[in-house]
Amino acid sequence: MEKSCDYCGNSMHVHLRKIVYMNCMEVEHVPVYRCSGCDHNELMDQVKDELKRLLIHLQPEKGTVSFADYSSFTRMLLSKCNQEAELGVDDWLDMYLLVLSLNDVEWLNEIKIKLQRYSASLVVKPSYIQNTSG
Ligand SMILES: [Zn+2]
Repeated sequence: MEKSCDYCGNSMHVHLRKIVYMNCMEVEHVPVYRCSGCDHNELMDQVKDELKRLLIHLQPEKGTVSFADYSSFTRMLLSKCNQEAELGVDDWLDMYLLVLSLNDVEWLNEIKIKLQRYSASLVVKPSYIQNTSG
């Protein structure tokens, strides 16, 4: 989960941060890239549409909400931060497909290991897990 900064070329890492919208609504756990060199922040492409949808429908009286309640991708990131607690096999499969779209090989391998642990106890192994190792 890294990219390089458009402004200074330093590496950017994903953080879950709180954003304030319209001065009264707070959205926690929004995945953004943060530059280690110039502090430039950039919303992850994967969540832009979801965040837009959330902000449109958000009621001002709601106060603080967690973006993880609205975005499965964010829920995955949050779970990853929280020691991968309570993730079921469906979650890992969702995550696998999402990370696949990010081309993050290292993270993908991590998830594959998790999935293989699950699939060991399943009768049918999802074939696409086996077919992506090369
Ligand atoms: Zn930068």
